[in-house]
Amino acid sequence: MRELQDKDLKYIWHPCSQMKDYEELAPIIIDRGRGVYLYDKNGKEYIDIVSSWWCNLLGHCNPKINESIKNQLDNLEHVIFANFSHEPAIELCEQLSKIIPQGLTKFNFSDNGSAAVECALKIAFQYQYQTGNTKKTRFMCFTDGYHGETIGALSVGSMDLYAKIYKPMLMDTIHIQAPDCYRCPYDKCRDNCSCECFEYAEKAFEQYGAQTCGMIVEPLVQGSAGMRIYPPLYLKKLRRLCDEYGVLLIADEIATGFGRTGKMFAFDHAEVSPDIMCVSKGLTGGYMPMAITITTDEVYNAFYADYNEGKAFMHSHTYSGNPLGCSAALAVQKILREDDVLKKAADNAVYLHNVLMSALGEHKNVGEIRHIGLINAIELVIDREDKIGFDSKLRIGYEIYKKALNRGLILRPLGNVLYFNPPLIIEKHEIDKAVDICRSAVNDILKA
Ligand SMILES: *Cc1c(COP(=O)(O)O)cnc(C)c1O
Repeated sequence: MRELQDKDLKYIWHPCSQMKDYEELAPIIIDRGRGVYLYDKNGKEYIDIVSSWWCNLLGHCNPKINESIKNQLDNLEHVIFANFSHEPAIELCEQLSKIIPQGLTKFNFSDNGSAAVECALKIAFQYQYQTGNTKKTRFMCFTDGYHGETIGALSVGSMDLYAKIYKPMLMDTIHIQAPDCYRCPYDKCRDNCSCECFEYAEKAFEQYGAQTCGMIVEPLVQGSAGMRIYPPLYLKKLRRLCDEYGVLLIADEIATGFGRTGKMFAFDHAEVSPDIMCVSKGLTGGYMPMAITITTDEVYNAFYADYNEGKAFMHSHTYSGNPLGCSAALAVQKILREDDVLKKAADNAVYLHNVLMSALGEHKNVGEIRHIGLINAIELVIDREDKIGFDSKLRIGYEIYKKALNRGLILRPLGNVLYFNPPLIIEKHEIDKAVDICRSAVNDILKA
């Protein structure tokens, strides 16, 4: 493996990494995957508890998805998607229509989550422009939000870690104080509060609603912020507020879509629909880079006119609607429909949370183990009473990550937050093993 690692470091600039860290911990060369497991060149087994960046939905090398892609490969690998189409894309949209929040009807394809967000922002802006709301030019978003890495997506994100250096390049957006249920400023509890913190949104809309074309949110789970979880009631209230001010509500379901929160989409918990929804990650089961921005008829119709009126959405990506991606997504949909995946995942979600709670719930440095669906986030603190977090320079999460890795678990934490976000098909014995390794790794670094 060493030889490959040296060559890797000679050529490859890895994403979201300080490359100097690889001097101590070289990139692990993965050879193959099966289910929740990955195997490196030396045959060492790892549990992929982070679903390879939250995208692997149904396990690695899922035989049904593999077969679907192989079949498609022998017919058509790609075709220009302007003026041309193909059955896998058409069938996929027909299938998705049946499971997405009501009112969403039109599908615009791109090839990664950030691109889907850019597409949503441009659509929202142009929609307002073409419906006579030319003063609505700004966007609202949450503090601690994450929507991807392109300039537009960073502009509606709020995490300094990713955006700070680029501030001079970014759009001037309005950042609304996001719900922070673990450190609730109102001292309430997310299970039974009335979203008192919604007044931050009300104030912002009062002040800026008239100049705002769209508000983008990560529904129910602010992923990159450390899997911060907030109640569905917030989305219900936000839907009403957006309607009141003529602001389009954009749901970034890139991380939460396709069963991650226990329901098909996070918005389903709130029983309201966004105007625009972005999906990616789990869409293809984590197989192929594909994303879709989905809108209502109302939004779509604002672009529909004679060519010379210049109202079309002149936006394209070379790989829009890629047939191999669609074939993977179709297989994912078939599995979700026929194999009762969400029901089994719901059962295992209860199990996972209970096992984690008994392993680490009482640890003196575990502030909270919050959860929704199979997502469980363990927030590490110096002091449980004061909820004081470790100095990020200590890299506590990273130290635990390295210990877990040695023992065969891929944890890759978000700062002081360790999290489980496994493929939905994880089994109870795999959960037991993962939790056991996680507990040992935490105790290696933070003595219980
Ligand atoms: C991952 C993610 C994105 C960005 O998707 P990429 O494919 O990495 O560009 C956007 N929003 C959310 C909520 C995500 O989790």
